[in-house]
Amino acid sequence: MGSTLKGKSAIVTGATSGIGNAIASALAEEGCNVMFNGFGDREDIEDFRQRLSERHGVNAVFESCDLTDITQISAMVANAVETFGKIDILVNNAGIQHVSPIDEFPTDKFQQIIQTNLAAPFYTIRSVLPIMKKIGWGRIVNISSVNGYVASIHKGPYVAAKHGVLGLTKVVALETAETDITCNAVCPGFVKTAIIESQIQARMKKQGISYEEAEQEHLIEKHPSKKFIPPEDIASAVIYLCSDAARHITGIGFPVDGGWLTV
Ligand code: NAD
Repeated sequence: MGSTLKGKSAIVTGATSGIGNAIASALAEEGCNVMFNGFGDREDIEDFRQRLSERHGVNAVFESCDLTDITQISAMVANAVETFGKIDILVNNAGIQHVSPIDEFPTDKFQQIIQTNLAAPFYTIRSVLPIMKKIGWGRIVNISSVNGYVASIHKGPYVAAKHGVLGLTKVVALETAETDITCNAVCPGFVKTAIIESQIQARMKKQGISYEEAEQEHLIEKHPSKKFIPPEDIASAVIYLCSDAARHITGIGFPVDGGWLTV
C-alpha cells in the first residue's frame, strides 16, 4: 500500500489484545507512531510496545486510560498531542460483550457496554476532531460489527451500541465531508479473540459438546465461509481506509464478515 502513512500519529483504543493489537501492529508497520491503550498484564504490554518500536522504528506509547471515564479519555488525547505534536488517525476499537436475555440483562453490564462501545468513541472523536481540523487531514475508523447492521440474540446492548457507532460514523462523515478528514466503520464478522472465545466455551458447556464442535456450530450459524476472520484482515481494512486511496470514502460501514451479511 506504499508509505503514505509514514510519519502519521495514531491512537488505537483497546489494543492490548485481539483486533486492536493487529491494528496497532499494522499501523506501526506502515511507519505510524502509535499510542495504544487497553487493560492487561503490564509486562506483556511493555513487550508489545518494545516490539512495535524496535521492529518498525516508530514511537510506540502505552496509555492505561479506562475508556468508561471521560476525564481519562481527555487526558489520553492530551497526552497524544503532547507526545506526537498531532493526531492524524483515531481507531476506536475497544469493545466488550455480555450475553444475556434482555429481561435478565444486568444494569451494570448494560452501562459498561454502552460506555465502552458507544460513548467512548463519541468522546474520543469529539476530542480529536479540532486537532484534525487544525492540521487539515484526519482518518477516523470505528470498529463496529456485523451487529451494526443485524441483530443477534441475547446481545441487546452490544447490538444497540454497534448500530449507534454506525450512526455516529455517518454524522461525523457528513460534518467533515468538505475537509480531508474521513470517518468510516469496519464491521467484522467472527474474529477469534477473547470476546469470541468465551462464547465458544459457553456453547460447549451448555450443549455438552467438544470445543471443535462448538467452534464449528458458532461459525456455521453465521459465516457462509465457515472460517474465522484473522485479526490481520480487519487491520488491512483499517489501513486501506486510512490510506490516500480511500480519501473519497467516508461514512461507510465496511463489512469483513465471510459473507454473513449476504445471507
Ligand atoms: P478483545 O477482548 O480481544 O479486545 C478488547 C480490547 O478492549 C482489549 O484491549 C481490552 O483491554 C480493551 N478494553 C475493554 N474495555 C476497555 C476500557 N474500558 N478501557 C480501555 N480499554 C478497554 O476483543 P476483540 O475481539 O479484539 O474486539 C475488538 C473490537 O472488535 C470490539 O469493539 C469488538 O466489539 C469488535 N468486534 C469483534 C468481533 C470478534 O468476532 N472478535 C466481531 C465484531 C466486532
